Amino acid sequence: MNTVYNFGGPKSDGAAHDDPRQKDKTVTGGKGANLAEMAGIGLPVPPGFTITTEESVRYLNEGEAFSDKLRADVAAALTHIERAVGKNFGDPADPMLVSVRSGARVSMPGMMDTVLNLGLNDATVAGLADISGDARFAWDSYRRFIQMYSDVVLGLDHGLFEEAMEIAKEDRGYFTDTELSAEDLQELVGQYKSIVEEERGAPFPQDVHEQLWGAIAAVFESWDADRAKVYRRLNNIPGDWGTAVNVQAMVFGNMGETSATGVAFTRDPSTGERSYYGEWLVNAQGEDVVAGIRTPQYLTKARRVAAGADLPSMEEAMPAAYEELARVFDLLELHYKDMQDIEFTVERGKLWMLQTRSGKRTAKAALKMAVDMAGEGLIDEETAILRVDPMALDQLLHPTLDPDAPRDILAKGLPASPGAASGKIVLDADTAELWAGREEAVILVRVETSPEDIHGMHAAKGILTARGGMTSHAAVVARGMGRPCVSGASAVSINLVNRTLRIGDRELQEGDIITLDGAKGEIMAGQVPTIEPALDGDFGVLMEWADKHRRMGVRTNAETPADCRTARGFGAEGIGLCRTEHMFFDAGRISAVRAMILADDETGRRTALARLLPEQRGDFGEIFRTMAGLPCTIRLLDPPLHEFMPTRDEEFADLANDLGVAVDHLKRRADELHEFNPMLGHRGCRLGITFPEIYEMQARAIFEAACDVTAEGGDAVVPEVMIPLVATRKELEILRKLVDRAAEQVFTEKGARVEYLVGTMIELPRAALMAGEIAHEAKFFSFGTNDLTQTALGVSRDDAGRFLGPYVEQGIYARDPFVSLDIDGVGQLVEIAAERGRATTPEIKLGICGEHGGDPESIAFCEKVGLDYVSASPYRVPIARLAAAQAAL
Ligand code: PEP
Ligand code: MG
Repeated sequence: MNTVYNFGGPKSDGAAHDDPRQKDKTVTGGKGANLAEMAGIGLPVPPGFTITTEESVRYLNEGEAFSDKLRADVAAALTHIERAVGKNFGDPADPMLVSVRSGARVSMPGMMDTVLNLGLNDATVAGLADISGDARFAWDSYRRFIQMYSDVVLGLDHGLFEEAMEIAKEDRGYFTDTELSAEDLQELVGQYKSIVEEERGAPFPQDVHEQLWGAIAAVFESWDADRAKVYRRLNNIPGDWGTAVNVQAMVFGNMGETSATGVAFTRDPSTGERSYYGEWLVNAQGEDVVAGIRTPQYLTKARRVAAGADLPSMEEAMPAAYEELARVFDLLELHYKDMQDIEFTVERGKLWMLQTRSGKRTAKAALKMAVDMAGEGLIDEETAILRVDPMALDQLLHPTLDPDAPRDILAKGLPASPGAASGKIVLDADTAELWAGREEAVILVRVETSPEDIHGMHAAKGILTARGGMTSHAAVVARGMGRPCVSGASAVSINLVNRTLRIGDRELQEGDIITLDGAKGEIMAGQVPTIEPALDGDFGVLMEWADKHRRMGVRTNAETPADCRTARGFGAEGIGLCRTEHMFFDAGRISAVRAMILADDETGRRTALARLLPEQRGDFGEIFRTMAGLPCTIRLLDPPLHEFMPTRDEEFADLANDLGVAVDHLKRRADELHEFNPMLGHRGCRLGITFPEIYEMQARAIFEAACDVTAEGGDAVVPEVMIPLVATRKELEILRKLVDRAAEQVFTEKGARVEYLVGTMIELPRAALMAGEIAHEAKFFSFGTNDLTQTALGVSRDDAGRFLGPYVEQGIYARDPFVSLDIDGVGQLVEIAAERGRATTPEIKLGICGEHGGDPESIAFCEKVGLDYVSASPYRVPIARLAAAQAAL
């Protein structure tokens, strides 16, 4: 099995790219596979080789040692590059230099390490100066190499080198790096080498092979760096993938005014618009563009003009190279049939491609590109549906800033990631995480972000940076996470000592509230009001396609008319779960609920229930009207009664007054009702069995409302009455009969009938196992996977937050089982119940109403089991529609 794959250069050199393993990202990583692919379609790729991910896993598992085979294969591959470029590694006369970069299966922007200009030493730097005819360039490259290598491979603080550089400039009265002459840089290299020797206790390595192996080891090891681990956890990337290493002949964007470097997207990654989009810098190396040290220039003339920028675009300054680049963009889109994110370098007028990958994009852009590309015939409708991550839709479904609200604009930066966010200013990532943990909305404000800030960026509602362009770390990561971001806001200056912030002439403090508009790049003081998003255009088109391709229905979990309306607007096809207990908390009725609970006997309870009946009838009537004939599953009272119990003395006093009884008496009743384990206590259908009058009242309210609304002449209402927490057939039999009796009574009184169904939740393991029996009494099952997870795992859903984090980190569960269904375990119970239920009643309707009904992976499982519908909270309805379509394809 190859440990190394060559790419670029003459085919006779084993770089034919016809081994399928070479194009397999699991073997050669995303970057390596795409470099091979680009070279294969004839694009200009500097020759190089990829060390497989398997080798990095082996290296990390086997005590950080290289195998003999790897050493031999790398030596041969180096020869491949040498032959292709006609230079030799370490040759003092005309040295070949290489870059060493990581490349995992999926891109982890900025998370792992890169070393450029490797192969320079005291001897080869002179050769490079001679051959290039540019001594300044050679010494600048050597300086950069020492700094990068020392940071990445030797683990020295890069601040030491930056400081030396600053002093060198100050001593000479310079403002910019470019003012440093060849001699200045040569002197600086001397200082850099002294720093290395002092800090490391050994000189900077001069042997180019030692340099190379040091860099390879560092890239392998960067897989296990803390920031990479955090990124993997946030993005559900397994820890055992490892990273490939790409060693590639250097091309130089810093060889003077005919050289340049840049990053680009074939379409706009923020809006999805079909126009080239990117940034470049003349006479610079790749890192300069993303690091935000120099402000990059626009790629196209149109964008430069639109932004009112002075420095010429690449289109204007280097028309030939730009034209070639545009040709490559089109070729790449045709080849990959997707928007590409590209790194390129122009060396003395010649264009070289250094990387391509599927570009990260905002939800809005993902939608637009999917719909546009299907329209252009680049992809088909099914592919378009599969292109959009359902969870990303979340970004679009939330409110945006009200365009008519006044804005107190503090400053403008670059519109790096769209969306609106308001929150308290925090000045570092740890504070962001801490405050967010206290449920506070925070905006992370930094000079620029680095991979070390990733946890704070995740915790924040929005990100603001003083430096950096549209492709800066902050911008790329924020777009990937769906966080609004304004970058490069140069009016922002941060004082970390006083924890204050100056924006223009305004002084702000950590903790003050600001608002960001990531689509416009605006920073505003205070909180700006928001409005609901309009879901038309591309969103509507994609949803229509999704609806055409999905098999499962999508309902919503909702109980208020407002939520029902939101969900209908999002395309819900009915209610899958109306939690009636939520209606009991209303200020006007909680005292009746408490009176019912604390009543001494049935008569007392009935008196209280009589007060609740008209309220419940009103609730259901409104829901039926809002849902206009769509199916509505209404669950009878479920939670433990203590949840409604008064706790404060005033509450007891009020209630005692209301009922005309003594406070002490009420408190005693409350004590009697105390439970040790309420989640497994007197709740669910157990309430209906012991206090049938409660369920009778609710059933009556449902049928009276259904008859009334049907009589109003709208669409016929078909209520689905759902009994919670059933474990045995007998429980359901008793309660089904109770509901049937209530229905008949109402129908007789009203002289009218409505159709209805009685069914149950399957949320206890026993119910799942006994589903064949229970199905005799049920017209439908709805999987309550919240409780089913709690009871199957023996993990309290209310306490899990305290310990599930480490469980997921250690891979005990791949994801939080309350968020994404534990398919292996709980999934089996669902499968068994579906199968046994259908064996008894083939036409039984099956749905899911636990939180998992809005989780794409769980939805894919529901499709596999053949459920009839999923039910999700209103804002998750579109996510569920898309996920259901993807699952069906
Ligand atoms: C469930 O248990 O999955 C469910 C939907 O019910 P609740 O969350 O109300 O317990
Ligand atoms: Mg439940």
